[in-house]
Amino acid sequence: MPWLTPVTATGPHWRMVHRGRLAHCQREWACQVCGEPAPPRALLAVDADGRCLTSAPMHPRCAKQATAACSHLSASALLLRAVTRDQIVVSGDLHPDLGETEQWRVPPAQPGLVPPWPDPHSLEERR
Ligand SMILES: [Zn+2]
Repeated sequence: MPWLTPVTATGPHWRMVHRGRLAHCQREWACQVCGEPAPPRALLAVDADGRCLTSAPMHPRCAKQATAACSHLSASALLLRAVTRDQIVVSGDLHPDLGETEQWRVPPAQPGLVPPWPDPHSLEERR
């Protein structure tokens, strides 16, 4: 189960994001799937305009797992982009206690465009 998925006594809430954990991922550059520190060059799921579906990085192996399990993530309109933190355009403010998190975007013209679902092992080697 993705680390960002809230879980209550009734079970996981698949359509929700745990804002406190998302803020942790954004502040600490941690993987949204497993919660562990992400590599300097990590993956983001973005639309054709470079907007992040969920503004937090993923390990290549975690992105592979997430896209295999989540039909929303494997939608053909989404791309996985391998980026470093300094390639991200940030809007919004990070105030986890107020439920505010950042929105991330990756400019489409930047090099590093990866077609949907790259081989995660090839990305691991480029770290
Ligand atoms: Zn991970």
